[in-house]
Amino acid sequence: MQTMENTDVKQQSTDNLKPELIDPFGRRIEYLRLSVTDKCNLRCFYCMPEHYKDFEQPDNWLTFDEIERVIKAFTELGVARIRLTGGEPLVRKHLPELASKLHALPGLEDLSLSTNATLLGKQADALYQAGVSRINVSLDSLRPDRFRQITGGELQPVLDGLIAASHAGFRPVKINMVAMRGINDDEFEDMVEFCLQHDFTLRMIETMPIGDTGRNASDHYLDLQQVKQRLAERYELIPGVMPGGGPARYVQVKGTDLRIGFITPISQHFCETCNRVRLSVDGTLYMCLGQDDKMELRPLLRNGISDDELKQAIITAIARKPEKHEFNNRPEQVVRLMNMTGG
Ligand code: SF4
Repeated sequence: MQTMENTDVKQQSTDNLKPELIDPFGRRIEYLRLSVTDKCNLRCFYCMPEHYKDFEQPDNWLTFDEIERVIKAFTELGVARIRLTGGEPLVRKHLPELASKLHALPGLEDLSLSTNATLLGKQADALYQAGVSRINVSLDSLRPDRFRQITGGELQPVLDGLIAASHAGFRPVKINMVAMRGINDDEFEDMVEFCLQHDFTLRMIETMPIGDTGRNASDHYLDLQQVKQRLAERYELIPGVMPGGGPARYVQVKGTDLRIGFITPISQHFCETCNRVRLSVDGTLYMCLGQDDKMELRPLLRNGISDDELKQAIITAIARKPEKHEFNNRPEQVVRLMNMTGG
């Protein structure tokens, strides 16, 4: 296991080689999902309870300067991909300001965003100008009534947000659709046609038992291997590739530019190639979406930790990264809700 413990060795390598964060299973950690808020203006039933109010206190939120310090440390350890997530990241005020701070960091090569797009209409240009290049939009239905049933919100602002994202220049624009039996499984072909029409990329995601809401949603679990077979009856699917550090396995619709990605944590997990960790709004570093292993960076930051000590703390944390999730055999494992870390 190669970590900063053998600081001497790393110092030498840092001079002329890109530093690397390697976890106990030999996986290189190069991607951080940064949750800038646990708040959201929607209530997707598989993520957050309808009347949920137990959000993190603003005093415990990492400030933009603290976030910048932590991300700087990660980039100096070889983490070059940062994704802004939530809750809904666009409810955090002045997000373009944070995006441009992070985009200016020397080691950061890719700054992306996951959003429900309801607020994107007004913020797309500013985020694009600030350096966010790629965007994923959650969209589980194209039917206003069903969208309201799933999220508690309105569909039209999301469609307006998608148009604004295309106009602003985001490429690619990816649609994240959670596949749910008995909820939206009669819309998969419609969503493929929608993405074909608008030159979006489609990513289909299996439900995960994250929190009670996630476990309830598992009642609608759908094995995406079956969905892929169903789509193959209508579309000629060929192997496809897509830029980005995510876990999706892509196919392409022959004769088109449409890529469809399948994110299958339950039916075919991808933990052996895991390359990411997550930082929540209160500065807690989670080593795995499916486990509770974590390290609280906020107390360290507010107790005057040095930059080198901060990097050492991150390395110590990565040394605790678990091998994989246990969604299948211990679905009760993860108590926290999805809005705390973003997917
Ligand atoms: S469940 Fe954990 S180990 Fe598996 S891919 Fe996700 S973060 Fe990585």
